[in-house]
Amino acid sequence: MAERYDVLVIGGGLAGASLAIGLCRQGWRVAIVEKGDYPRDKVCGEFLSPESVGLLSTLGVWSTLKALGPAAIGRARFCSAGGKQIELALPGEGQGVSRRVLDQHLVEHAVSEGAALFCRAEVEVMVPTPTGRTVTLRERGPGGELQRRSLEAGWVIGAYGRRARIDHLLDRPFASLRSPFVGLKRHHRPSPRLGAKLQGHVEIHTFDGGYCGMSFVEGGVVNVCMLLESRVLGELDGSDWSKLQVVLQDRSASLRERWAELEPCGEALAVAQVPFFAKETSKDGVLFVGDAAGVIAPLAGDGQAMALESGLALADLLGPAARTPDPETQARVVSAWDRAFRRRFRARLALAQGLQRQLLQPSRAELVFAVVGALPGAPELLARWTRGKSDQKHGAADTVSGRG
Ligand SMILES: Cc1cc2nc3c(=O)[nH]c(=O)nc-3n(C[C@H](O)[C@H](O)[C@H](O)COP(=O)(O)OP(=O)(O)OC[C@H]3O[C@@H](n4cnc5c(N)ncnc54)[C@H](O)[C@@H]3O)c2cc1C
Repeated sequence: MAERYDVLVIGGGLAGASLAIGLCRQGWRVAIVEKGDYPRDKVCGEFLSPESVGLLSTLGVWSTLKALGPAAIGRARFCSAGGKQIELALPGEGQGVSRRVLDQHLVEHAVSEGAALFCRAEVEVMVPTPTGRTVTLRERGPGGELQRRSLEAGWVIGAYGRRARIDHLLDRPFASLRSPFVGLKRHHRPSPRLGAKLQGHVEIHTFDGGYCGMSFVEGGVVNVCMLLESRVLGELDGSDWSKLQVVLQDRSASLRERWAELEPCGEALAVAQVPFFAKETSKDGVLFVGDAAGVIAPLAGDGQAMALESGLALADLLGPAARTPDPETQARVVSAWDRAFRRRFRARLALAQGLQRQLLQPSRAELVFAVVGALPGAPELLARWTRGKSDQKHGAADTVSGRG
């Protein structure tokens, strides 16, 4: 017989784990289905905004993470391909923590709060039933052997990130659109001189067809992460990181300087087809959180905060609802979640994407640097507008019957 849960969360990243913690605290029986395993690396700038740090404290994991020696980051430095620089104080202290460490701690915390975790598992089939859904998982055992498992749940939540095969299963419109964006990342050891320059900073270098961020994470390591249009990769002669550095150093003098003082010390990771398209917040009763509901341009440094915040906000919204929903309850939650998500995130998604569009084109990027750099307070204002508020309540304003 299938095991029954109140909610099945597909994806054990930041959004899925924070949702699971929020619901476990309200007595829900939660199952997390994760296609990968832990610990694992992930393409991400690994910059935790001040808002993310506040949310991780609410979730009860920040004190453990803090003990691992994350890198405090209080300032941002933007460098244009043409040599302009803007430096600003962040509205609070951010932190650099690798996703390898962060995701594992968060999901372990979800398990300690009562969630069941199924790793190396993917949803194969989802069938609606009068009491929710029956889901068939395809699981790989520790030795790679395949097995199938059936679970039943009143609610199913998609927290599986930017893009997954399940988007096709659900027939989501964006799934058939192609995106030109590729994300890459690699950890490095800096020279003492560069280490001193990067201390306490996150740097963003913009150039024709992309931008590259770098900042410390725990262990004295600098994470270098970039978003590129695929045309930039088209110029590569081969696929190794050093060839990429050669192509980028011709596009940005500031990056050329940095490369000379960075020694790779981790694997290079890449992810293609990063989708910045508008997405729905639910499909056929499956609710989405985090990147599955909307991907913010990475330059805002807010994706992790949005994932954590949306997970907690949905937990607050869903918590009081029936665990075996009738169609009317489901429709009310679906529409309340859509209102709540849009109210919280729509403006910052649009602003960050607009800014990204300007920065990817050299002439416009230089103009943005000139204008924003000349207006006192403008960089700080932009940084605030593309982000949430660290004191934002997670769900008090989001109610099933609320006006939105
Ligand atoms: C290049 C780049 C740089 C970035 N830099 C930053 C930054 O510096 N700071 C910041 O705050 N944000 C940054 N972001 C954004 C941030 O990485 C994301 O917003 C955040 O990871 C979203 O969290 P999530 O939980 O929604 O998704 P994810 O973190 O992607 O988690 C999804 C989880 O679901 C699992 N999964 C996927 N498919 C399935 C499936 N079918 N079944 C089961 N499980 C599945 C995955 O294995 C994963 O564990 C960056 C993004 C990019 C692309």
